[in-house]
Amino acid sequence: MALSTVNRAAPHVSDQANFNQLLRSLGIQRLEALRSHLKPVRLEAEQRLFGSFVGSSHAYFPTTAVISHQVVSMEGETLEIVMIGNEGVSGLRFEGPVATYHSVVAVAGDALKMDLDLIRSEAQRGGRFTEALIEYQGVQLSQIAQRMFCRAFHHVDQKLCSWLLMLDDRVSGTRLPLTHEQLSTYLGASRVTITLAARALKEQGLIEYMRGKLTIIDRASIEEAACECYSIQKELFKARIK
Ligand SMILES: [Zn+2]
Repeated sequence: MALSTVNRAAPHVSDQANFNQLLRSLGIQRLEALRSHLKPVRLEAEQRLFGSFVGSSHAYFPTTAVISHQVVSMEGETLEIVMIGNEGVSGLRFEGPVATYHSVVAVAGDALKMDLDLIRSEAQRGGRFTEALIEYQGVQLSQIAQRMFCRAFHHVDQKLCSWLLMLDDRVSGTRLPLTHEQLSTYLGASRVTITLAARALKEQGLIEYMRGKLTIIDRASIEEAACECYSIQKELFKARIK
């Protein structure tokens, strides 16, 4: 089905699409063309959107949800390689083997779902949609590269601050529903190590952590304590916001 067909139904989808930076970058005309193919969905925390080596049929453009791409070993060890919020899309795959990572919802929220076949047919037509997807793939590759560098060379206290700030940018200051188990998965550190690092931030008055909900209290001090990766990731995040 050609995506250039203008459909004037469901105006709320366009409104929601404006909250996804990648979709917004397409401009009003392209969004109008895509609108009938973008389905609003509610994503629940820890929901798996697709598994490794399992093909996905849809891509997800988060508006308020945050999605985590994770590599999981046979023994269940998990490593987050990138987080995706309202700057991008999860589940893009054009050709070749299926993904070697899982796509899991880190923070519950809303997203727009689009059929992968439709994305492929639209991408083959070229134009702004294709350009935006290629640009985003480049940004995401840089995000992954920075995360790998961070994991290898930076202290867990710094990594925790950088990661919290990256998540905070994507959820706009709301309380973050996070367990220490999740933090340990996302940061590739033991639960004990994460508990000690989070406790230190709490004792310094930089965060509040109650009943599995984390709130950043002193963002400026957390930015000071974060490694250089946060400012690089922030630039990459903003690169999509045009
Ligand atoms: Zn770092």
